[in-house]
Amino acid sequence: MDSAPDLDAPASSGPRQQPTPLLQEVAPLAPAGEKRRKPHRRTRIVATIGPASDAPETLRALAAAGMDVARVTLAHGSVEEAVGRIRRLREVAPDVGVLADLPGPKIRAAPFAEGGVVLVAGAELLLVPGSGESGSTAERIAVAVDDVVHRLEEGDPVALGDGGVSLVVLGRVAGGVRARVRSGGRLQGRPGVTAPARSMQLSTPTSEDLERIEVLVAEGIDLVAVSFVRSREDMEKVRDVVGPNGPMLVAKIETPEGIADLDRILEVADAVMVARGDLGVRVPLEDVPHHQKHIIKAGVRFGRPVITATQMLESMVTAPVPTRAEVTDVANAVLDGTSAVMLSAETAIGADPVAVVSTMARIVERTEEDFDYVGWGSGLGVQQISGPPSSPARITAAITGAAWRAAVEQDAAAIIACTRSGATARAISRFRPSMPIVATTPSTRTARQLSLSWGVDTIMVPESESTDDVVWFAVKRAVEAGFATAGDVVVVLAGSPDEAEPVADTLRLVRVN
Ligand code: PGA
Ligand code: MN
Repeated sequence: MDSAPDLDAPASSGPRQQPTPLLQEVAPLAPAGEKRRKPHRRTRIVATIGPASDAPETLRALAAAGMDVARVTLAHGSVEEAVGRIRRLREVAPDVGVLADLPGPKIRAAPFAEGGVVLVAGAELLLVPGSGESGSTAERIAVAVDDVVHRLEEGDPVALGDGGVSLVVLGRVAGGVRARVRSGGRLQGRPGVTAPARSMQLSTPTSEDLERIEVLVAEGIDLVAVSFVRSREDMEKVRDVVGPNGPMLVAKIETPEGIADLDRILEVADAVMVARGDLGVRVPLEDVPHHQKHIIKAGVRFGRPVITATQMLESMVTAPVPTRAEVTDVANAVLDGTSAVMLSAETAIGADPVAVVSTMARIVERTEEDFDYVGWGSGLGVQQISGPPSSPARITAAITGAAWRAAVEQDAAAIIACTRSGATARAISRFRPSMPIVATTPSTRTARQLSLSWGVDTIMVPESESTDDVVWFAVKRAVEAGFATAGDVVVVLAGSPDEAEPVADTLRLVRVN
């Protein structure tokens, strides 16, 4: 083996006498025996920003409590308000990934008065076409899309909000339909309205979505979520607008059609969301946990980050502690292998958004102590990718599989992914290794996008000319950051810097001595 080279000199600064050895040695910066750094919590937290959380000091506190990605939904308010929120986030929490969520064809009721109303089972009420209406009451609910009410028939079920409140249509009357409350509950704000598919216009993305995307792309947004995706073609329409170097696209799986076309959607989406709220009013409620597990497995098969969303700590919208069932739900999502867990109303309009994020972080960290890391990686099949064996994505998938095995065999201190686009880090992330995944990248946007990926800690590095330099600086930075120390082996993945499409084609084992 060569003698340890000087860490501050780029490896390629002189002519190379010998081929690069499999095990290179790098001098340590920390003294031998020093404790290795623990990785950051592996499962990521997405928090929705709303009126309860968009003050600069609250955003800062949310990031400190564990918010990895902030979700800004465009369902409420104007696109200008969303842009204001995005800019504020960038300013106070520059490392947090920003996800803009396009509402798609979500149909809502006209708003209820402050404090909401309580519908009682057995009560009768009127549903009316409400495009021109300014409000709803317990006796008369205005539905913002007129056609939904026009197409309702006797016997149709109608769900309000996330499905807690449901009605059955009794028949048509002048001005709308009469309905009876089947299960009652509180309705606040502008609850969603879900009727049988025949009465819903479900085409997505909507023209408003597409107009908003252009504004968001101009803002340099990191991720865009597309609601009510039914097919691969729905995602392609969005991709056509954002272009190949635009934000990452998250397909929200919340319809039976989306579940049926899941594999084709995953071929073109960059990430997926198990959108349990809308899904739960469109499929039998008892099917939701099974779809969650199925969507997570499929996402991992394709190497895509998966977000598990909605009602995870719902009672904390008002209560200071979650229910036992909610704590168990978050833990089970982690054990299912989700990349991220999401908070919606809990942080957007809840009583204490910062406490919600730190509660979720605690549950996740405790669960990760018991995660079967080696079992997970050993049980993975090959990554599902369409295209020829020589395609960059397939080469990257193959070499990350080899990297995972080498890291386990060597009990490596870290797996270092040198990545410009983030693709290499995402490809190794699907193995859920126990050791830290350290992504080194020259791109701040890639760094923010990787904040959604399971287990990836990112370090910024300067641009480098050759693969040797890329590997060299990456190991140096990882050692400086405390991810490895004397005696450790680290596994390094790198690509060819001048390749047009991202490809990881280099695997090295480096010993720190
Ligand atoms: P939403 O999506 O909160 O934008 O409706 C998530 C879900 O439906 O679960
Ligand atoms: Mn939804």
